[in-house]
Amino acid sequence: MNNDVKNLINTLAKDHSLSFEQWVHIIKNYSDSDREYAAVKARSAAEKYYGNKIYFRGIVEFTNICKNNCLYCGIRRDNIGIERYRLSKEQILDCCKSAYSLGFRTFVLQGGEDSYFTDKVLGDIVYNIKSLFPDCAVTLSVGERSYDSYKALYDAGADRYLLRHETITPEHYAKLHPPFMSLENRIKCLYNLREIGYAVGCGMMIGSPFQTAEDLARDMLFISDFKPDMIGTGPFIPHSATPFRDFKQGSATLTLFILSLCRLAMPSVLLPATTALGTAKSDGRRLGILAGANVIMPNISPLAVRKDYMLYDNKAGTENTPLSELELIAAQLENTGYFLSSERGDKSND
Ligand code: SAH
Repeated sequence: MNNDVKNLINTLAKDHSLSFEQWVHIIKNYSDSDREYAAVKARSAAEKYYGNKIYFRGIVEFTNICKNNCLYCGIRRDNIGIERYRLSKEQILDCCKSAYSLGFRTFVLQGGEDSYFTDKVLGDIVYNIKSLFPDCAVTLSVGERSYDSYKALYDAGADRYLLRHETITPEHYAKLHPPFMSLENRIKCLYNLREIGYAVGCGMMIGSPFQTAEDLARDMLFISDFKPDMIGTGPFIPHSATPFRDFKQGSATLTLFILSLCRLAMPSVLLPATTALGTAKSDGRRLGILAGANVIMPNISPLAVRKDYMLYDNKAGTENTPLSELELIAAQLENTGYFLSSERGDKSND
């Protein structure tokens, strides 16, 4: 019965936790009306901490060279169909400079696992960004590295780190990743990042191949237990040059529901309405905000390299400049009551 899903949403909003069976139940049985009910509650939970502010972060996709081979990812090592590139320090700083003048106060450096970017090289870039823009946060999203490496980058000035756990179920993890990767190491990385002092983000794709409601329920339990500062979650979207080319795209509707559940489980978390959600559904980012997200992450990479950083097919916004992205998002937020905020947007203390 729908009614018991609403009861569980109320319980989640009040206690911020559910049992495994309860998570499975709501994920399997929710209706559109339950989803809308959760979205309204999630929105008011977000407002308690963030008012009507939506933060925006500029993503610089600074390298698509990757030694890894994740089966879902368009920049996986085995994809020989793309031109590989690395941005220079000057190019990265130029991206930040022009974005800064538009009001961006967080720069996210995202890339493949590219061994050219040693701690020294990447640390120098981070250090330069922080020296030029002391009022900005730098977020790194460059995959798995050693404790010492994370520490060196933190000491160079990095503030936050995004490392999606992808799935907390070991058998599922093994189906999404090459045999040389392990869930154990990925989770160890998350705990190392936390211990060092980073604001840490984890997360999973929605509807990744072989994912079950039980897998997602375990992801929600992991998130409730780990208590990340940020959660990155968006629908899986197939990429034509990966082994998952023929799998179905993840549901945007389920993604919206999961966003609301993440917000209710962790009311003060920083929660982006992702590019993948905006790709799966044209007004996806607006709906993501209305479901409880409070962050948007426009691409500020040079236009010339965008086509070579396709994690999935038809990625949205690859022709938009940072300015046109901001204008587009502002238009999408029209009549929602929410506004882009040019603050650095750290996690609100609860
Ligand atoms: N190399 C970095 C950044 C990876 S790309 C790292 O390992 O963290 C950032 C995120 O994009 C990934 O964590 C993954 O969840 C998501 N992603 C990759 N391929 C995708 C696809 N086909 N569909 C949707 N999301 C995808």
